[in-house]
Amino acid sequence: MSSNEWIYRQDYTPHPFTIVTADLLFDISEQTTVSAVLHLKRNPLSELNGSLRLDGENLELLSLLIDEKLLESKDYIKTDTHLEIISVPDDFILTTKVRISPEDNKALEGLYRSGQMLCTQNEPEGFRKITYFIDRPDNLSKFFVRIEADKTQYPVLLSNGNKKAFGDLEDNRHYVVWEDPFPKPSYLFALVAGDFDIVEGYHTTAKEKRKVLLQILVDRGYADQAHFALESLRRSMIWDEQRFGLDYDLDIYMIVAAQAFNMGAMENKGLNLFNAKYVLADKASATDHDYIHIEAVIGHEYFHNWTGNRVTCRDWFQLTLKEVPDGV
Ligand SMILES: [Zn+2]
Repeated sequence: MSSNEWIYRQDYTPHPFTIVTADLLFDISEQTTVSAVLHLKRNPLSELNGSLRLDGENLELLSLLIDEKLLESKDYIKTDTHLEIISVPDDFILTTKVRISPEDNKALEGLYRSGQMLCTQNEPEGFRKITYFIDRPDNLSKFFVRIEADKTQYPVLLSNGNKKAFGDLEDNRHYVVWEDPFPKPSYLFALVAGDFDIVEGYHTTAKEKRKVLLQILVDRGYADQAHFALESLRRSMIWDEQRFGLDYDLDIYMIVAAQAFNMGAMENKGLNLFNAKYVLADKASATDHDYIHIEAVIGHEYFHNWTGNRVTCRDWFQLTLKEVPDGV
């Protein structure tokens, strides 16, 4: 952040618009494109009229439409950090298509390569490197995501929510569709494309008796070391039920652990991403402290499902409301 971009808490104002739904198509190939169909409405909490300003960085804009009408370059202003559309209706569909370069993304924010997989890190402001968006925690949108990629290189295609559809495409490609029924801020969006060993089990929730599939996805060859993580996740779910009466709210909970994931751990809704050292434990070498730490981090990220994910923050000055001092 440069010195002329300081943000002060007292300057908070609601964004003039809200994105109600975000329908995203990721076409992963040598030229990865992201097509977004966004339903925007004027935000009743805002008194500002006028133009629409979206966040966006390192995006190559391919097309831009409002209610299916193609915009010309005179209709918008594009800078290195924003896209401003001068005149917009109060309730409309914005369709954008951008090209991004996960292979060249060394910022480790947005969508990037980490070892053999593609993954995302969007807290706090990485999503603006994926597509044009209101990239702030007080904008809650329902996400519907379709991912298309090569079947051999990326047999596993993940995003938040519940898996709604999957199938084959031409040229050895396939697709998976994910729908997250709960509105969420963009920092909780996640996408993973890779090849993993999977350790899985089930948990039946206490009140709703929902049968939840629990999956720990690890680099090939590491499945034996993921069982303690799976049990830690199950114990975390039971603790939240018994202590606070909070059932898990999706059909699946996934933890992706990879040696190459550069962050510690991230609580993306239904799809946590972890550095492998916070997941893997080998009985021959792991210490008691290692086991305690794995359970603590898995519990920390799981408990975000309600505190932070379903109940989120207004702005980043409220980060401490969802993180404990040793939080990750
Ligand atoms: Zn946390």
